[in-house]
Amino acid sequence: MQIDVITLFPEMFDGPFAVSMVARAAAEGRVTVNVVPLRPFGVGEHHLTDDYPYGGGPGMVMRPEPIVHAVEWAAARVPAPPTVLVTSAQGRRLNQRQLQQWATRPYLVVVAGHYEGMDQRVVPLLGAEEVSIGDYVLTGGELPAMVIVDGVVRLLPGVLGAADGAAQDSFSLADGALEGPQYTRPLSYRGLPVPEVLRSGHHANIRAWRLAEGRRAAERRLRDGEDT
Ligand code: SAM
Repeated sequence: MQIDVITLFPEMFDGPFAVSMVARAAAEGRVTVNVVPLRPFGVGEHHLTDDYPYGGGPGMVMRPEPIVHAVEWAAARVPAPPTVLVTSAQGRRLNQRQLQQWATRPYLVVVAGHYEGMDQRVVPLLGAEEVSIGDYVLTGGELPAMVIVDGVVRLLPGVLGAADGAAQDSFSLADGALEGPQYTRPLSYRGLPVPEVLRSGHHANIRAWRLAEGRRAAERRLRDGEDT
């Protein structure tokens, strides 16, 4: 799979993509992740990428031409059709099912927004999906783009070892259950012991306990309004 991220701030990706899962998956040849700077696609000799909003209002808006040009430039180098995602607080809220779908695509392009957002015409012109990572506003789409890339890459075949496969993760379990709490050594820490059942060696009881705890966590989340 190939993922191209288009951004005004490519240096923000240096750390996150150089370590852990994304770096390992890339080193193993399971994914190619390119960070494409948007600035060179800017308009005119000053490579302008933003302008004042029509209709007035605060801040600047990203111009459509650099974004469309950058996506077309990137896509021309890949034989597969691109699935284009643009980050937007107003987009569809990201979930595990979307990540699973995107992980099956051969080529993703993620465009990180900035300023007050992008000229809306990029969405129909690129056939893009607008993606929000939650009901809050960040300064830019770089962190959301990292979230999308990380969430997709860990689902690619072979990226997670069998022992920590994604199938048991929260939001991947059949009935919407969460994974539930985890414990490791020491057996007792500051007076808090590891639950007895996890030390019993009784696999069926452990499975049942984990299922019940995961369901309880999912219910608690709904009750607390995490999902509204
Ligand atoms: N004026 C916009 C609004 O009210 O919806 C917010 C713009 S925000 C300061 C700049 C950019 O950050 C957005 O265009 C988007 O690309 C990105 N962004 C901010 N919050 C986001 C979120 N929750 N999910 C995805 N992208 C987000």
